[in-house]
Amino acid sequence: MAPLPELIPVRDDGSVLSKKFGSGVNNYYSGCPLNRVSFLREDYGFLSSAFTSSEAQFIVLNDFAPLVHDLATIKAVRREDLISVTGPDPFKLSEKELVSAYDSKVASPLVVFLGIWEDEVSQFKIREFRGRPWFSVDLTPRGSYADAAQSVIKKLTSDGSFFMKGARQNTLGSEIAAVYGEARGVTDWNLRNPFCAGCGQRTLSVHGGWKRVCTPTDLNGTDTPQVRDDCPSRVGISNIGFPRTDPTMIAAVVSSDGQRVLLGRNKKWPGGFYSTLAGFLEPGEGVEDCVRREVWEESGVKVGRVVLHSTQPWPYPASLMLGAVACALPDGEAIHLGHDPELEDAKWVTIKELRELLKVTRPSAESVATNGAGSDALFLPPHTAIAHQLLSAVAEGYAGFSGPQASL
Ligand SMILES: [Zn+2]
Repeated sequence: MAPLPELIPVRDDGSVLSKKFGSGVNNYYSGCPLNRVSFLREDYGFLSSAFTSSEAQFIVLNDFAPLVHDLATIKAVRREDLISVTGPDPFKLSEKELVSAYDSKVASPLVVFLGIWEDEVSQFKIREFRGRPWFSVDLTPRGSYADAAQSVIKKLTSDGSFFMKGARQNTLGSEIAAVYGEARGVTDWNLRNPFCAGCGQRTLSVHGGWKRVCTPTDLNGTDTPQVRDDCPSRVGISNIGFPRTDPTMIAAVVSSDGQRVLLGRNKKWPGGFYSTLAGFLEPGEGVEDCVRREVWEESGVKVGRVVLHSTQPWPYPASLMLGAVACALPDGEAIHLGHDPELEDAKWVTIKELRELLKVTRPSAESVATNGAGSDALFLPPHTAIAHQLLSAVAEGYAGFSGPQASL
């Protein structure tokens, strides 16, 4: 097992907010170093110059697995390595021309513009932005380019590089993990949305991978554009063609006197693993509402005050973890697991016990073998999980959260 990476440090800006609430935390997958210059995604002249730049860097994915040198390091490749799949320049035509030339019978590999990794010595410059353009390419063999993709994959892995499989990567260096998270999230969204949510017809990926458009015509394997059925997405204001993010609350719940913290255990988790409680936000629900509902449904504990601590993008596939510290009501601390069967167990532990648990974030193989699933030998998520950061904030007396004088 590779050692887990350090999180991207937060620069203390000395601001009044930092003095009052602490400097914050860059949770794993957040703090992406790229300048996304999202306002340039419609400028295919820019995308073309970025794609064809000798300094362009490409993350390649195969069924979402990133090509890596080792468990900590992405292998970024050059355009020349990918041309047999992407063609020399997928952004050669303007977006308008691409829409006019849309042919639903032709499959193209997804190329996403991720942003510019700015540095002062790079030769690539657009407006005042200088640095290396980063893209991702989905090399998963499909359709007419399957054979070409297989050949590229074989060549790229001939030096011992490999596609790192596994649903939830947390061994990559923190900066490149954030870049991978962006690439994975946008790629996943494109693959899940091949059809228009307004009319059900096939869509075309535009905006450098950041929008899917329901085109008014389709060559449909011919030389003549055929007019398609009407679609509500082409009339008036519509945002159905943009990537979505699923808000999810996750909260460290402390007792009303601040002396204990609530931990829960999902029945699917490894033996002894406990964490904070979490759940998806529902329509018409604020974050505070969701924390109160989920904590009560899962544990029976009634929550009062809720304060946001930090957030974590979680690209599996599209969650944004909204991390909070919450306080139980004085008369609402009794645990009751009978509402929602999601949790196998929930318990209060003292802050002193929590500090000890945070020192050991994963069990040894011997511990699991000895204690087995469902044992009382607790262990908590590693520091790459926002749950760990929330629990650390509680264990440290909310330092870095509400300032040294604050108390709940
Ligand atoms: Zn449509």
